Amino acid sequence: MDHDQELLQLLPAAALVVTPEGVILRANAAGVALLEADSEQALLGRILGHFVHPMDKARSSQRIERVKQPDHAGRPNKSSEFRVRTDKGQLRMVLVASVAIEWQGAPALLMCGMDMTHQSEIQEQLRESEHNFRRLFDNMQDVYYRTDAQGVVQHVGPGVRRVLGYEPHEIEGRTAESYYPQSKDRDAFKAAIQEKGEVADFPGQMVRRDGVVIDISISSHALYDHQGQFAGVEGIYRDVTQRKNLERELQRLATTDMLTGMANRRAFLETAEAAYQTARTQHTPLTLLMLDVDHFKSINDRFGHLEGDRALVAFARAVMEGLRPGDAVGRLGGEEFGVLLQGTTLAQGHEVAVRLLNCVRTLELGVADAGHGSHRYRITASLGLGTLRGSDRSLRDLLDRADQALYQAKHEGRDRIALADADLDNQGY
Ligand code: GH3
Ligand code: MG
Ligand code: MG
Repeated sequence: MDHDQELLQLLPAAALVVTPEGVILRANAAGVALLEADSEQALLGRILGHFVHPMDKARSSQRIERVKQPDHAGRPNKSSEFRVRTDKGQLRMVLVASVAIEWQGAPALLMCGMDMTHQSEIQEQLRESEHNFRRLFDNMQDVYYRTDAQGVVQHVGPGVRRVLGYEPHEIEGRTAESYYPQSKDRDAFKAAIQEKGEVADFPGQMVRRDGVVIDISISSHALYDHQGQFAGVEGIYRDVTQRKNLERELQRLATTDMLTGMANRRAFLETAEAAYQTARTQHTPLTLLMLDVDHFKSINDRFGHLEGDRALVAFARAVMEGLRPGDAVGRLGGEEFGVLLQGTTLAQGHEVAVRLLNCVRTLELGVADAGHGSHRYRITASLGLGTLRGSDRSLRDLLDRADQALYQAKHEGRDRIALADADLDNQGY
């Protein structure tokens, strides 16, 4: 008997012993606390039903009647929630189970209760936080994704509709590779993840459902299982096509001469520097042409600056048409242009130079003359030729030689080609 009482006190859940009529005989500490009574004494002799919310009373007594039936003997009923009003008038949600027992030789009921009031608050909070998360997730501009160790997409966020035009379920279960137009992008990404465990703002491209290739940026980290084995990748990717287009446009503006559409001086010299380094290390020939339009000032003087511009555009087009796609050409200054011929000897470069000057000579230019038909005119250019030599210490040496040759061509009467003296000696001209 004492043993039972002790057990009752030890129970972390509220436990009350009541007579079959519902009169409280005993209450453990948790029971006193649940009903917010001052002491066990304050509860004894009171009717348990008085604590039950009126709306739940009928259900409560029905359940107690069931438990008292002889066929139910010894088996507790299924726990159910009831609203309970405490001694201090607080409403609580209590999960209750009861069982028929014998107490001090007489039939009684043992009622066990657990306060769920707090639980439902937590559940409400959980629901709310889940709801907030969902809203954030569903409206995220980025695409969340997770793959397994084999690269199969396990989960992808709804942002994928906007970015790739697919429904999430169309992506899930397929490998991420399917959406990469270039496998080298995916390989570079995998290598980076393997090496560092994570990547931030990693560049790549993907193909949308409509076939359009977009630029993306990925930020992801590797996932590991309990044994520390690689288990996949989780992260986000975003469409950065607009940003990339802007960057490409800025790059174009920074490297293009706006009048002729050619590379500008800076871009041409950058290309030339790279070509110079390649030619040096691979011991391949490299030839440089410098062109300057003859008496260009007089075109401006006779027909105006605008016609001068038109002549420059026509000249630039003629030069570009006379070159192969791999040749680099740029506008070095006002009416001065450079052409870089990689893998080309001085002799081969000379042939190109002859062709270019012919193209320029045959250009038909003209301006409409109000009332009197039109003024037709032609232009010529002078050309200096230089080629890479073993003794060159930098690109500058080659540029200087071609420049000197150009000066010489001007000096000798214009509309002609001149070769740098040093190159002439060496190449047998
Ligand atoms: P030469 O080269 O045969 O010695 O004579 P030139 O008259 O061409 O000589 P110079 O190099 O001294 O003059 C080049 C002129 O080109 C000067 C400048 O007014 C003109 N010029 C430079 N850039 C432009 C341009 O973008 N548009 C026009 N219309 N003219 C330009
Ligand atoms: Mg000139
Ligand atoms: Mg000039």
